[in-house]
Amino acid sequence: MDKHFDLIAIGGGSGGLAIAEKAAGYGKRTAIVESSQLGGTCVNVGCVPKKLMWYASEIAQAVRDAPELGVNAEISSIDWPTLVKGREGMIDGIRNYWNGYVEKLGITLLQGAARFVDNKTIEVNGEQYTAEHIAIATGGQPIVPPVPGHELGITSDGFFKLDQAPKRVCVIGGGYIGVELAGILNSLGSEVTIVALEPKVLETFDPLISETVKHNLEHEGIKLNLPFAVGSLEQRDDGIAVIDRDGNALTGFDTALWAVGRRANTAGLNLEATEIEHLPNGVIPTDAYQNTNVPGVYALGDITGRAPLTPVAIAAGRRLAERLFNNQPERHLDYENIPTVVFAHPPVGSVGMTEAKARETGEKVTLYQTTFTPMKYALNEREPRTAMKLVCLGEKEQVVGIHMVGDGVDEMLQGFAVAVKLGATKEDFDNTVAIHPVSAEELVTLKEPYTED
Ligand SMILES: Cc1cc2nc3c(=O)[nH]c(=O)nc-3n(C[C@H](O)[C@H](O)[C@H](O)COP(=O)(O)OP(=O)(O)OC[C@H]3O[C@@H](n4cnc5c(N)ncnc54)[C@H](O)[C@@H]3O)c2cc1C
Repeated sequence: MDKHFDLIAIGGGSGGLAIAEKAAGYGKRTAIVESSQLGGTCVNVGCVPKKLMWYASEIAQAVRDAPELGVNAEISSIDWPTLVKGREGMIDGIRNYWNGYVEKLGITLLQGAARFVDNKTIEVNGEQYTAEHIAIATGGQPIVPPVPGHELGITSDGFFKLDQAPKRVCVIGGGYIGVELAGILNSLGSEVTIVALEPKVLETFDPLISETVKHNLEHEGIKLNLPFAVGSLEQRDDGIAVIDRDGNALTGFDTALWAVGRRANTAGLNLEATEIEHLPNGVIPTDAYQNTNVPGVYALGDITGRAPLTPVAIAAGRRLAERLFNNQPERHLDYENIPTVVFAHPPVGSVGMTEAKARETGEKVTLYQTTFTPMKYALNEREPRTAMKLVCLGEKEQVVGIHMVGDGVDEMLQGFAVAVKLGATKEDFDNTVAIHPVSAEELVTLKEPYTED
């Protein structure tokens, strides 16, 4: 086998597959090294299985709401094993697709863990390989803090291994993965408590989002115990106890789920044998062109610590391939205005600056904001809250941030993200004729600037 390539992508997840696919398409000799399964986090233990579980939980909720609209349905049971079987079957299909596609493109798949020997040489299963260009796209993995009893908890990876619905779950972490998994579990019948270090869920989002999501989580019956610094986990007669640093215990859980962030996968790469710079948290810094400090070595996706999302890893990989192999020397990903969704119940959508970020610019900030219960729930006792906020900058009121919680915002956001990217102003929004009756019409009919009082 040839041991020298034009490109080696380390990691066969979203980023590695994207750059390898493009490079091979441009006729380059390409290899992917993958230590686990092609598809990476997103396909195997991330976006894809999570979204399928979210669909199931949305349907469960819709069935509960149905009788109030005269549709006499009820949930007789949640058949978790059937859901898991279907989900895993679908993931198998995606993996098979990638395996076949990689082969069809003539990409060499090196199955095993890559470690660097020097700046331009890697070793896989004892064999050495070199390349003109090496792209590191090894992603990340869930963090489990080394507190006593930590091994009693599972992570998002373990969540996808559950073969039965847990009865009482403590989700540790109020970031997007914690909020998503808590919502799915609650809707599928588990009793859920969230604990987190921070006083708010989704703390890095605009305050309107964290406040509305807090309301909705509690409205759905999820208990929030914030802030709560977990000091240990303990197996007791009545189940797992989650104990804070002062010894206060929440007890009786059959599952504790760590969702306290993800750590970049650099530990196994033996970067010590190279000059490739990396931070204590494992992140490999890059410039705007995905270059590391070593010429010919690049990093992309979660490993770079920027916007850890699948489409970001894919876009960075594709643009890098176009720059390196398709004569587009300036091609690179613009990390501004990346839209993001949290699949809560109802979901969250956010693009651009939060109010706080906008204020940091020193320019005039104008806010437009609304909170309401959408018509969908007019006949229901259950009233999840919908909220929308436009953050506008300068005299022209350019819309630099959109923050939303509500049914459909996950789909709504993509088009509005285009408007933000194009620099649309509040006037452009006002000049757009509304669609009625939908929640989205609020975004183009917000009248008075919002003030706190
Ligand atoms: C529960 C969960 C839900 C998520 N939901 C969403 C979502 O809804 N939308 C969204 O956009 N993003 C979501 N994400 C994030 C998304 O999965 C990641 O941003 C994306 O997968 C990053 O792609 P990547 O290529 O950087 O890394 P990965 O997809 O993680 O791929 C890295 C690959 O490298 C391999 N690898 C690691 N070390 C080595 C080595 N030394 N040698 C060889 N191979 C190695 C790994 O096995 C892995 O396959 C979610 C993540 C999680 C955990």
